[in-house]
Amino acid sequence: MNRDHLIKPILEADYPMVKYGKGVYLYDQDNKKYIDGSSGAVTASIGHGVQEIINAMNEQAKKVSFVYRSQFTSEPAEALAKKLSEIMPGDLNWSFFVNSGSEATETAMKIAIQYWQEQGVYTKTKVISRWMSYHGITMGALSMSGHVARRERFVSLLDDLPSVSAPYCYRCPFNLTYPSCDLLCASELERVIQRTGEDKIAAFIAEPIVGASAAALVPPAGYYEKIKTICDRYNVLFIADEVMTGIGRTGKMLAIEHWEVQPDIVALGKGMSAGYTPIAATLVSDRIMDPILKGSKSIMSGHTYSANPLSTAVALAVLEFIEKHQLVDVAADTGKYLKEKLQEIAKKSSIIGDVRGEGLLLGIEFVTNKIEKRSFNKAFNISGLVIKKSMKKGLLVYQANAGEEGVTGDAIIISPPLVITKKEVDELLAILNEVIDEVEEELG
Ligand code: PLP
Repeated sequence: MNRDHLIKPILEADYPMVKYGKGVYLYDQDNKKYIDGSSGAVTASIGHGVQEIINAMNEQAKKVSFVYRSQFTSEPAEALAKKLSEIMPGDLNWSFFVNSGSEATETAMKIAIQYWQEQGVYTKTKVISRWMSYHGITMGALSMSGHVARRERFVSLLDDLPSVSAPYCYRCPFNLTYPSCDLLCASELERVIQRTGEDKIAAFIAEPIVGASAAALVPPAGYYEKIKTICDRYNVLFIADEVMTGIGRTGKMLAIEHWEVQPDIVALGKGMSAGYTPIAATLVSDRIMDPILKGSKSIMSGHTYSANPLSTAVALAVLEFIEKHQLVDVAADTGKYLKEKLQEIAKKSSIIGDVRGEGLLLGIEFVTNKIEKRSFNKAFNISGLVIKKSMKKGLLVYQANAGEEGVTGDAIIISPPLVITKKEVDELLAILNEVIDEVEEELG
């Protein structure tokens, strides 16, 4: 009997079988070609089948693939940590390697709590986060995530952490307009800290540009500067979750570099190995490591595969590739081109309400009425329809929706590999254009 054994995201859905990938393209079992307009889940940032990475993987596998971090360190793990300290802004000079973005944010949470404990402060254990955010699927990371659809089954098991509104100007949670709003969404952090008690808050976590829940939501000017001032005023650490935005995706090495703000802790994942191997990292500044180095001298976390030689060698090769081809600047330039073209499509479209994002992390939000910004009914699943039609025509895009009807919009992320050429961008846009036209025609 021919039956399924693999639990796929949607059981019984018909997924194509991938055969191979090359550059910005993936090919299935029937040799159908797909342009990877989302880098998978915003991950494959240097494209598929890059020979330098395959070579690095082979060379390391010939030496040693795995050692236990409590028994050995390895050259690639040491070199990767050194490389990260060189390319990161400020004093983010320490790396703790894990295997997924969820582990990276959860480790960030633990390190923030430990930082206070090492100084004799045992009450600062809560992390404030924002609605319309996603920090990962494990219970700690999900507790910090404002993604209603991913939380709802487990709400009773999640830690009840304080949260603030998202800086969602397109649908301001306070019905205000920038700049006369005076960044009320940032000031809300101060009120939540005061209400919860400064003595209970270890850190505030945010995706500098919101990804999975809101499709490349960029806060207005001054937002992060205000957030950081409040964090400093109340002794609250600032964790930047750069799992989706980090390593050049938005046209800067870290997305937070679009603002004059230095994070204390950073979570990286996805683009760090560009999907060639599972690896993620929690980066820690000297200031945060200092009391730990003087105190217990050990971070109470870790996974069997943390810092394994194979994954660290691959991630190092990816960072070297990004540097060699100046992909951070390339992403800024290609992203500008793609965004302008998306804005042109939006102008003539009746269902694209907003185009947003930075670099090659761009989002488009769908509405039934552009003036009233009314969302489509959730059951209609407009973004799902666009994704399905795009895939049929050989274009992959990514769904982004925090699942709160009437509050969060319905959107897709367009985030091709940073290596995409403008000619390939045009190819992506031609398919997207056709899909939007088709959907509009069906809607009448
Ligand atoms: N943080 C952010 C900002 C993400 O976008 C994601 C995944 O989409 C995660 C954390 C979780 O990463 P992972 O799926 O690798 O656990």
